[in-house]
Amino acid sequence: MEKALLEIVDAIKAGNRTLDAAWLDKLVRRHNRATHDANRRVAKRRLLPFYLGVKARDPQRWESWDVDPATEEALLGLLKMKPRRTASGVATITVITKPWPCSSDCLYCPNDVRMPKSYLADEPACQRAERNYFDPYLQVRSRLVALREMGHVTDKIELIVLGGTWNDYPQEYQLWFVRELFRALNEMEPEADAGNAWKRPEPKVSQTDDAATDNPERRDRRYRACGLTYDQEALQASTRELQRLVDDGACTYNQAIARINGRASWQQASAWQHATLDDLRKQHAINEAAAHRVVGLCIETRPDLITSESACFMRQLGCTKVQMGIQSLDQRILQTNHRKATVGQIEQAFVVLRRAGFKIQIHFMANLLGSTPQADRKDYRTLVSDPRFLPDEVKLYPCCLVQSSRLGDYYERGLWRPYPEGELVELLAQDVLVTPAYVRISRMIRDISATDIVAGNKKTNLRQMVEAQVSKTAAATGQSVQEIRQREVATADVDVSDLRLDSVLYRTTVSDEHFLQWVTPQNRIAGFLRLSLPHDGTEAMIREVHVYGRVAGIHEPSRGAAQHAGLGRQLVEEACARAAAAGYQAINVISSVGTRPYYRGLGFVDGELYQRRTLA
Ligand code: SF4
Repeated sequence: MEKALLEIVDAIKAGNRTLDAAWLDKLVRRHNRATHDANRRVAKRRLLPFYLGVKARDPQRWESWDVDPATEEALLGLLKMKPRRTASGVATITVITKPWPCSSDCLYCPNDVRMPKSYLADEPACQRAERNYFDPYLQVRSRLVALREMGHVTDKIELIVLGGTWNDYPQEYQLWFVRELFRALNEMEPEADAGNAWKRPEPKVSQTDDAATDNPERRDRRYRACGLTYDQEALQASTRELQRLVDDGACTYNQAIARINGRASWQQASAWQHATLDDLRKQHAINEAAAHRVVGLCIETRPDLITSESACFMRQLGCTKVQMGIQSLDQRILQTNHRKATVGQIEQAFVVLRRAGFKIQIHFMANLLGSTPQADRKDYRTLVSDPRFLPDEVKLYPCCLVQSSRLGDYYERGLWRPYPEGELVELLAQDVLVTPAYVRISRMIRDISATDIVAGNKKTNLRQMVEAQVSKTAAATGQSVQEIRQREVATADVDVSDLRLDSVLYRTTVSDEHFLQWVTPQNRIAGFLRLSLPHDGTEAMIREVHVYGRVAGIHEPSRGAAQHAGLGRQLVEEACARAAAAGYQAINVISSVGTRPYYRGLGFVDGELYQRRTLA
């Protein structure tokens, strides 16, 4: 490993211009051909942890390598895996809640009794969750370790909480779950960033807080003492009969989960899964100055469960973004697919979330039972043009048939068929082309493994296929792509002097929205802000501020990275100026816990749910 690493260092120092992933692959293959000892084989993904490990544990050896700062920067850039994962400026950690009954029973939804509703045991985040007993603390720590091993900076974290329907879980569980997310980040020692990536650092142990005294190892033992396991065979054996009953229609998913949760093992584990708002607020306060700050917290729920009260509670948890399963805006299709939420409830949920300042991400499905490509096309246009809706982000999933879902009956009777691939790609490409400049299409496929899909898209590169079709259509018709994700500067360096501040104005049923964006001469997007001017209030709302660029540490400016060029501050000042000019007396920001200090620096004052600046 050392030989390979030093060859890379030498190549960087020599100014070799061909240092890219392909060059690295060749070098790794060459070193592996030269060794016949399987234990000494070089793995690309282990080079970075090896380098960081030696730097932290064996400084003399590291010094002998003579790696100057410029060489190190190039080395880290070359060895970092999956750079896009933090290209949006933030490291994302997805966690999964424990299996729990869902108050809807949608036809296409998987019924894997080892998982929360709608998830499957072999999705990557689900595997991680199951290995960690669905414990939020353990999930966060294991993900942090993995991100560091891949070379990502982890000082700014977006937490995404997935699994079933969040508002169906008891509030005390919600409080505990979120408190543990924060606590895991607060207790991760910052020195680990300097290279202790290969091991779980010991957290600081408080002797005064009973629930807070267990470190990862003790926590693991505690779950095992309850009789829980992450052994795959044991898990399968313990749920096989219930899964068979669900698959045969003899029992519902909710009934099966009630039986599993009624077992002594889960009863015991659940006994400590509760917390109070005060407990959570203590962790929020610590996180403001922690090495791993929460800059976004997203939860997943259904529109019919969004009320002013639930929105207020989500805000108290520290939530900044709500993922809402909509799937369709056609009442007939919603009913046909046994969706509980109605179009009226969807409309109302948009009103509540927008007024409360949340960033609104929605799930939308093509190819639902009873739909056609023409109807889907029309439905998506309604979503992105009707002032009752207009989301900020979309997960655009084509429906597919997974083994355990009730859609299987309809498939067998010939009542549902997946669209042919070409038709699906064309439909999604058309959707991308009509997506406005203020909407980001975050995903086009779920992380479902091909073996779980009975019928429907199995291509993991569906998005690339759609993008190719978009380029083709755009070239033929002269249309241009406005959608955010395809315009992001991503991992590219940004020359700040090239950027221009552009604005897109649009109107919803309850507000005038100003989407302020920094764009390059080629219309690539380097940062944006969402300003909401409500029709019936005196206070404006900043719903989101996001600046792209390669991730740099909060305290370590990075050359060329857009995050540290004051772009965010200028966006906020522009929003304040616009709100003041429109006659608003104050402006609120739906800040995340970890960004509160930043907004205080910009003159905002802490309030109960938001930070506020007067505009007089
Ligand atoms: S609301 Fe979501 S989790 Fe619940 S059944 Fe429907 S798709 Fe599945």
